[in-house]
Amino acid sequence: MTDLKRPLNLKPSSAPIPTSLNKPKWRVLVVDDEEEVHAVTKLILSKIKFKGRGLEILSAYSAAEAVEVLNREKDIAIVFLDVVMETDDAGLKLVKIIRKDMANHMVRIILRTGQPGQAPEENIIIDYDINDYKSKNELTAQKLFTVVISSLRAYMTITALDKNKRGLEKILESSSNLYDVESIQRFASGILTQLSTFIDCQAEGIICVEFQPDSHPDDSVPCKDIRILATSGEYNDCNTCPMDGTCKHEVMIDLIKKALKHRKNQISDDYTVLFFDAGKNKGTAALLHGGLNTSDENDRRILEVFTSKISIAFANAFNYQRMISAEEAAVTDYLTGLNNRRQLIRLGKPLASGAFRSGAQMAVAMLDIDHFKKVNDSLGHDAGDEVLRRMGQMLKERFRTSDVLARFGGEEFCIIAANLATEAAVELFDNFRKHLEEEIFLVLGKSFSVTVSIGICTKVYDNIDEMISRADQLLYQAKEKGRNCVYSS
Ligand code: GH3
Ligand code: MG
Ligand code: MG
Repeated sequence: MTDLKRPLNLKPSSAPIPTSLNKPKWRVLVVDDEEEVHAVTKLILSKIKFKGRGLEILSAYSAAEAVEVLNREKDIAIVFLDVVMETDDAGLKLVKIIRKDMANHMVRIILRTGQPGQAPEENIIIDYDINDYKSKNELTAQKLFTVVISSLRAYMTITALDKNKRGLEKILESSSNLYDVESIQRFASGILTQLSTFIDCQAEGIICVEFQPDSHPDDSVPCKDIRILATSGEYNDCNTCPMDGTCKHEVMIDLIKKALKHRKNQISDDYTVLFFDAGKNKGTAALLHGGLNTSDENDRRILEVFTSKISIAFANAFNYQRMISAEEAAVTDYLTGLNNRRQLIRLGKPLASGAFRSGAQMAVAMLDIDHFKKVNDSLGHDAGDEVLRRMGQMLKERFRTSDVLARFGGEEFCIIAANLATEAAVELFDNFRKHLEEEIFLVLGKSFSVTVSIGICTKVYDNIDEMISRADQLLYQAKEKGRNCVYSS
């Protein structure tokens, strides 16, 4: 199970290390008003062991005291309960309190009575949710042993079922959210929380994905040859970690890389590294502080289902992201991030016909950078690209999000602005022209400025191509008139 040891230079995890030495004892509560019964029961029970765990005996001398103990102490597996204590039916009343008021259906209750005739067994076992009914003098050491072991076995099954149920609920809860995941990072961070609850460890962890140069989730943080998807606790500063080899989590990162390389979980007493096979070499791994007790068969099975679900979810999320990126690439200009010409026309069509039918105002402007060739010729294409990028940025900053902005081609841009009157349009674009004229570009140590000529069509046609073509004609007039000006109709 353990194929990695905690390296010496790591600070010890505060999670308890599960060893057979500190295995919790089964907890048994003896409720009886006779001291002697406690003494005898304790003597017999103290020798019993089940599944490598001894018994811890708690005592209560009345029903009221038993309620206190049950409220205070957790994980009590068996209650040996005397019927007659402060009243003739104090024990029976306590059964109802445990099952109804405390809603504790897991603890095994064994009624013991000194007066068997007083409360007939048949009635009691039908009316009260108890698990056994014994006469005190019937409880020899051998019988007590048998009843304890069978009760512990039942308790173990019931608690395992309950744990299973809770684990499954968690898986179902998380899997129902997976399909509307838009951001892999957000999803991964949810997984970290889910896993830390499941493994029952501190919320300290990190999720990484194998780095592939051509495709990786946007904004994920590079770290050596893997990328960080999500962090929690002390790993949060990994997002700003210096890349100069001084990473304080170097050892942990190596554990993650090991899981990615061998494509399987790496589990030690102190750390749990889970590998998620997200298909197509997109291995993903999560590291959490706290060792998983893999000797627990139920935990292991639930974790297997959980990791396979997460793997599928990651695969879906990566595919979804790939699909979105491909869709975006098809409609976006790679240099400026603005719409490309195809998308401009696709978005512009309904705007033009809508405005045409409703009689609303609308403007289509064509902008062309003046003497752009000179920028390329004197400073190089990279400088030219930088100007185009900056131009795209300025347009995004100065126009409404409802306007459609596009790089039409080369150094030409097109803007479709709905609900914009002619005078307002001229003023708006002329302001932009002036703003650009004043902008100082600093590229490759050289500062320079550029100007733009603009043609605006404010006559609405039922056809966006017609409006674009009119704007283009007006742009040529602006060029002919000496550039760095706005022409409209
Ligand atoms: P005008 O004022 O008449 O518009 O002159 P201009 O030099 O801007 O126009 P022209 O059509 O002569 O040249 C456009 C230049 O834009 C030529 C082309 O190399 C350059 N160009 C087109 N696309 C890109 C690009 O993506 N990056 C760079 N750097 N230059 C580009
Ligand atoms: Mg030009
Ligand atoms: Mg041009």
